[in-house]
Parts: sequence; C-alpha cells; structure tokens
Amino acid sequence: MIVRGVFHCHTEVSKDATLTHEDLAAFAREQGFGFVLLGEHRDRMTEDEVREAAARCDALSTEDLLLVPGQEQEVPAPLKFHIVGIGVREPILATEPIAIVDEIRAAGGVSVLAHPTRYRTHPAPADLLDAVDGIEVFNLRYDGRHGAREEVRALLETRPETLAIAGFDAHDPDDLRRAETPVLVVEVERLAEAEVVAAISAGRFTIEMAGEPVDLRRPTPLVRRAGAGLRRGLFGVARGAKRGLDRIGIRLPERWVRAARRRF
Ligand SMILES: [Zn+2]
Ligand SMILES: [Zn+2]
Repeated sequence: MIVRGVFHCHTEVSKDATLTHEDLAAFAREQGFGFVLLGEHRDRMTEDEVREAAARCDALSTEDLLLVPGQEQEVPAPLKFHIVGIGVREPILATEPIAIVDEIRAAGGVSVLAHPTRYRTHPAPADLLDAVDGIEVFNLRYDGRHGAREEVRALLETRPETLAIAGFDAHDPDDLRRAETPVLVVEVERLAEAEVVAAISAGRFTIEMAGEPVDLRRPTPLVRRAGAGLRRGLFGVARGAKRGLDRIGIRLPERWVRAARRRF
C-alpha cells in the first residue's frame, strides 16, 4: 500500500514549539496522511521526557495513523549539527556526530542530517555526510519555498546511496497551513511503525512538494524558475544586514528572521 506522511515535526516537548501531539494527529487526518515522523529536540529534553513523548505517540496512534517517535540531537557548539533519528524511542545519549549516527543505527532507527543549509560557518564534514543514512536536502523552515538549495543538493552527487529526504520541521500551528509542505510517499505492506521505518531506510519512498512529485537529486523546477543565483544574492544582502545589526547589539525578533529565511 501507498501511504503519505511527513518527516521532522516538533511538539511542545521540544520546548521551542507550540504544537501538541493532538494538533499533529488532527492535521495528519485532515490531510489523509498515514504517519507523522517526529524529530523532537533531544538536547532540550530529559530522558523521562523522551520516553513520555514516545508514549504520547503510541497513545494517539491508531490503525490508520502512526505518530512515530523520533529525536533530533544537537552536537555541542560550535558545530551544532542536528541529526534526526527516525523511530528512535530510547533517549539518544551520544553527542559526537558519528557516535550519534551509530547509536541511531543500533536502535534500529534511520539517521538524517537535518537542514545542512544551517551549517554555514562549520559545514558538515565528509565523514559525517558519508555516515548518515540520509540528508535533509530540503527543509521547509530553512530552505524557503523554492526547493532544495543547489549547494545542499550537490552533497548527494557523490553519494548515490544516501537518502534524499525533505523535512517539514513544523513547530507551530501556523506551519500546518503551508501549501508547500513536503510529503513522503512510502510503500509498505501494511501500516506499522517498523514497516514505515524500514521502507524509508531502504529508500522505498518518493517526495511530493505542493502536490507535485519532486526529485531532490535534480534541480527542482521551482528553483530554476526563481533563479537560484538571484535568491542567494538577496539572502546574502539580508544576512549582511542582520550581521550589521547584531554587531551593534540590535537583535531582530526570531519570528522575523524565520520569515526571512522562508522567503529566500
Ligand atoms: Zn534542527
Ligand atoms: Zn527540527
């Protein structure tokens, strides 16, 4: 059977999100999704909170909708890479990049390097890119509306085995009203958590954005139309302006910064 769903969602247990598990379940039902893959901020949760969040997912999962527990672990500063473990129920303890990936694999989960766009000052090293099961080539929160960024897409060119995955990174009710929500279309024998995780791990999925199938390994039509160069240029100007303000001690509201990231 073919099942649709979303990857990389946060709830209030992540501390920086206001969505509840109930909100996500209601949204998924309304969209006809069969699964929601969580990726809660592990570094902001206690071990008990991780287990409680998994129990919450189980309590709300039904025959036709799975909330699949997952964590997003942050590597300590200055690297701050985010690695999502899909289907990992026990708290991730490792904080070193490769150790996190190994721990996710040992737990039967799928490891995904989240939003590589974010690591501008410390790009993800080759050994990490080689180690993860997948790369979040497109993240709706960081990569705007136009599709995967060229420099991130290029990471897959030398890694044909790496999963090219698109993330929703939903935090707040507003995020649920986005038309561009990236959707995973997965092929499974029956709707069960282990089946969905195994199908993703084996690459038995495709991606849809704005209702259209997209191949994240190729420049998306939207990117071509919008002009990636122009977009990067505008982003550079906006980022320069923000740095200038940072330097003189003016901090823009996080809401504005996020809105700007989406636009470019
Ligand atoms: Zn993240
Ligand atoms: Zn996230």
